[in-house]
Amino acid sequence: MESALTARDRVGVQDFVLLENFTSEAAFIENLRKRFKENLIYTYIGSVLVSVNPYKELEIYSKQNMERYRGVSFYEVSPHLYAIADNSYRSLRTERKDQCILISGESGAGKTEATKKILQYYAVTCPASQQVETVKDRLLQSNPVLEAFGNAKTLRNDNSSRFGKYMDVQFDYRGAPVGGHILNYLLEKSRVVHQNHGERNFHIFYQLLEGGEEDLLRRLGLEKSPQQYHYLVKGHCARVSSINDKNDWKVVRRALSIITFRVNDLLSIVASVLHLGNVQFAADEQGNAQVTTENQIKYLARLLAVEGSVLRDALIHKKIIAKGEELISPLNLEQAAYARDALAKAIYGRTFSWLVNKVNKSLAYKFPGWRSTTVLGLLDIYGFEVFQHNSFEQFCINYCNEKLQQLFIELTLKSEQEEYESEGIAWEPVQYFNNKIICDLVEEKFKGIISILDEECLRPGDATDTTFLEKLEETVKNHPHFLTHKLADQKTRKSLGREEFRLLHYAGEVTYSVAGKCVPRSLLHLLPFELKQLHYIAKTNLATQFKNSLSKLMEILMSKEPSYIRCIKPNDAKQADRFDEVLIRHQVKYLGLMENLRVRRAGFAYRRKYEVFLQRYKSLCPETWPTWDGRPHDGVAVLVKHLGYKQEEYKMGRTKIFIRFPKTLFATEDALEVR
Ligand code: ADP
Ligand code: MG
Repeated sequence: MESALTARDRVGVQDFVLLENFTSEAAFIENLRKRFKENLIYTYIGSVLVSVNPYKELEIYSKQNMERYRGVSFYEVSPHLYAIADNSYRSLRTERKDQCILISGESGAGKTEATKKILQYYAVTCPASQQVETVKDRLLQSNPVLEAFGNAKTLRNDNSSRFGKYMDVQFDYRGAPVGGHILNYLLEKSRVVHQNHGERNFHIFYQLLEGGEEDLLRRLGLEKSPQQYHYLVKGHCARVSSINDKNDWKVVRRALSIITFRVNDLLSIVASVLHLGNVQFAADEQGNAQVTTENQIKYLARLLAVEGSVLRDALIHKKIIAKGEELISPLNLEQAAYARDALAKAIYGRTFSWLVNKVNKSLAYKFPGWRSTTVLGLLDIYGFEVFQHNSFEQFCINYCNEKLQQLFIELTLKSEQEEYESEGIAWEPVQYFNNKIICDLVEEKFKGIISILDEECLRPGDATDTTFLEKLEETVKNHPHFLTHKLADQKTRKSLGREEFRLLHYAGEVTYSVAGKCVPRSLLHLLPFELKQLHYIAKTNLATQFKNSLSKLMEILMSKEPSYIRCIKPNDAKQADRFDEVLIRHQVKYLGLMENLRVRRAGFAYRRKYEVFLQRYKSLCPETWPTWDGRPHDGVAVLVKHLGYKQEEYKMGRTKIFIRFPKTLFATEDALEVR
């Protein structure tokens, strides 16, 4: 039989805290590589699960495997997301404490798949009844709908979620799922009007065109071919071999009818976006834009239930308020195209929010207050992003990750400290990088980046992207995590443009462009009634809205007991069995995994309940074998004395033994093997 040691050589350790050289990034990555090679895609850092996308179907998600993880202690079975799911569920049941599972990682790392697999786990393993079956079905059906409207093919992922999602599942007193609620964040609306080469618009457009019945398409005034629509051809890849739009349409169409009665209205609005994209302009003698595509206006008027003439006028004019008077002035070609695209993005964005509302209504727990429920939340949100060109979207995403990192460190340290306290073991302070300083730089009232951005956008008249940058420089110039062209020294200056600022995030430097950060108001009064109602009228800009929704999310997460799944993408080619070390090293850094491990390993590498420890190793000591009749605590004391543990190597807590170094434990494990 293979000894424990050689097995460790081959498949690595299943918990990074057991790495001898735990501060070495190379050792960390080597362990990941060994395991990945053996198709062991899951590894723990304490109770955090690290997952590497296998890009192939593994036989580890069967019903039998789900059963294997039910009610089993974390360490008895190999690492798996079912273990995380089950552990959270059990805490929810036994301690009646709300839980959340935070899933992070870059695009294509496997976050959404993990979320789905966890939901499936609950759908299969939780108690059932007629009503519960309906809720389970709706929970599962909400996925294809949200993915159709919120996911797209990108270069990184053929089914990339272009929004962040937090989903609550409510459980009743029997532990059966009885309701749910979804919060969505930062839909990437720019995709509606533009896609990079090799990328697509949101799936729903192609599904509708490829799968929609003839009657339906006729009613919507649509032709079957995506090539006809400007908004669908920018990326030059309307068809993708890995995606079957026609089949997906059937699934989505069915799921939609479970979620809302208003499918026809919804599809009218989807179609209106495509028509809007085909509205063209020509300049008259004065250079003012005129609509040249009357057919599109006709369809739009019908689909959006507005007057054609009103729509036409709105697309080629702007209203300005000067000295208290409303003036109408014409737009030039470029401005009209901008207004058209802004309207398309607004319509789509609101449609998405409308849809999430509908999903929430269909998932709502029908008997609130009848019996109290407990909640388990799943957060599937993009990880830290650094591109060649980073815009407002990356700024928001990275700020979000900065907040999540802060939460993570706070909660991990807190729970470590609490465990030490409850076990009666002295707490040894941990040195770690506190990223609060960066969060403050972004979000502080009056002098944070978001405040300044807001102020500049709301200032009437001449606010521009450059005045924003100047104001930033003035306010935060000496901040150690902030830099611009002007503030940089000679050497660094070359790497910064004049319309950029750089933030030193916990995960590394990112340079952001300020171009287009100020968002103008547009033609929102034209929207259909229900979408108009969703109009966010308060005078705040997007950054502040995001900041507020994020602080609400943090509140939600803080009130729950967290578990973490950190997803890693092994290569950029979406291929199985390829472990690209450079790419992975980046992600280990951006996910803060080394910091994570350091905090977790600060005191003791390993801890186990006395009963469990004794059960496993009692055969190594004649006094504890075959049975120990006294308290497990005393049995373990006798056992480790017999094994020659030195005083500095371990501590005895109230219910657990704490072992400082992995090598102590490994020696004991090996003794078990050779015996
Ligand atoms: P993310 O949400 O992090 O962007 P996804 O969850 O959409 O990434 O995963 C991207 C793709 O990777 C999926 O479409 C699937 O093909 C593959 N994948 C992810 N996780 C797994 C897994 N556990 N097993 C097999 N394939 C996976
Ligand atoms: Mg996703």
